[in-house]
Amino acid sequence: MSSNLTDLSKNPYYPLFLKQQTYQLNMGYTPFEQRIKHLNNLKKAVEVTYREKIIDALYKDLNKPKVESELTEIYQIISEIKYAKSNLRQWMRRQKVDTPLSMFGSSSYYIYEPKGVCLIVSPWNFPFNLTFGPLVSALAAGNSVMIKPSEMTPNSSALMAEIVKAIFTEDVVALIEGEVETSTQLLQLPFHHIFFTGSPNIGKIVMSAAAKHLASVTLELGGKSPTVIDQTANIDKAAKRIVWGKFMNAGQICVSPDYILIDESVKDKFVEACLKWIDHYYSEEPQMSESYARIVTQKHFQRLKSHLDNAKSLDAKIIVGGDVEAETKYIAPTLVTELKEGATLLKEEIFGPILPIVTYKSLEEAINYINNKERPLALYIYSKSKRNTKQIIKNTRAGGTCINSNVIHYANHNLPFGGVNNSGIGKSHGFYGFKAFSNQRAVVKQHTFGINELLFPPYTNFKEKLAR
Ligand code: NAD
Repeated sequence: MSSNLTDLSKNPYYPLFLKQQTYQLNMGYTPFEQRIKHLNNLKKAVEVTYREKIIDALYKDLNKPKVESELTEIYQIISEIKYAKSNLRQWMRRQKVDTPLSMFGSSSYYIYEPKGVCLIVSPWNFPFNLTFGPLVSALAAGNSVMIKPSEMTPNSSALMAEIVKAIFTEDVVALIEGEVETSTQLLQLPFHHIFFTGSPNIGKIVMSAAAKHLASVTLELGGKSPTVIDQTANIDKAAKRIVWGKFMNAGQICVSPDYILIDESVKDKFVEACLKWIDHYYSEEPQMSESYARIVTQKHFQRLKSHLDNAKSLDAKIIVGGDVEAETKYIAPTLVTELKEGATLLKEEIFGPILPIVTYKSLEEAINYINNKERPLALYIYSKSKRNTKQIIKNTRAGGTCINSNVIHYANHNLPFGGVNNSGIGKSHGFYGFKAFSNQRAVVKQHTFGINELLFPPYTNFKEKLAR
């Protein structure tokens, strides 16, 4: 045993890790039927048994409106399960590949085998979806899993612990509630894969911990997702979709439009349209609206408030919103313009209901602006011009893109979901999630005579070898 592993005897979670590892070794490849059984149990729990409790916990933690909980948490998990169930047999099948003539006499295939014992560390903004979503992929791939949900949403984490305990034995899935210290202890264990969703800074900590054991990682991170609106765009439709994508869950969404980059000639029209849609969705008093969520914790509320204070101190213009109430962690849907470079709203991921609007004079200027920042998780384009759309896509890099929409690429299981560099490593959802939790094992089977044997030493007398 390496010194790294012997040092783990004091780690409180090492016995659980060993239990899961033993289970995995005894199990070999978890059979198809068993994987389906796990998925069915999770589906029933989320869809039926705990549905109301889930909605209640989300309301307590985030004031999440019931419809949003149904749509962005429950529905997402159920559809991920259904998709995995209907494709699993195909995914688990041996994948035959061609064998080159130089290897005549052999055949080749690969299989997706379970990685083993995996860790899922999840954030608070969609506590159920971002914990059970990756769990679906991990179970479909036949792994055992330890989960560490966020401490910021205690009601949701406690309920997930209850669900996991009720439907899984702990050698298959175990959920450990706790804060950063718990995460740190878990990250010391020699997992075979770590799936982390959270901020880029913590992603770096996770990746360094994984490097100690050379565990593979999927890092679903965040960042500043730009939304470009050119002069050809349908401005009213753009505003309708952006206001929805930005202010859902009070802007606490990894793929929400972080800031707008708009052709200066259409800015005023866009602002006007946004005001109309904010009123339409949340009324003139969003604080009274049942469709509007709250900020998760006082810490995040203060972080967002200080963005606004910073913008005001730099003479930015708050077009609408800006109202805050500490007691209820309320921040109004807010539009800000005339921000000076250096304003924190233009530097850090906002992750809240504040939308900065930056103007550009040429598309090249917009592209340079994007490329001077870290590569984003999502980049949205509103345009009727195929040429402009192509130019933006070709000259930038992003985890995902919607054209004339936002956020919705997340919901298509046929697409790989994830970031690039600072916004993430690896992909998830559907087959890509299954793949992330699987080892692709290459197999070559030698049948009879192999033509390559002609090349075995001694490197002479080829005619004689052929005759044998
Ligand atoms: P976070 O990085 O603060 O926390 C995520 C998880 O990491 C939590 O479970 C937390 O307990 C744990 N953690 C925190 N500090 C740690 C440390 N020092 N060592 C080990 N573990 C630690 O993120 P958050 O505030 O929960 O979520 C917001 C961030 O997540 C945003 O950046 C957002 O863009 C990103 N996000 C990304 C996606 C995606 O799918 N790409 C989805 C949701 C959120």
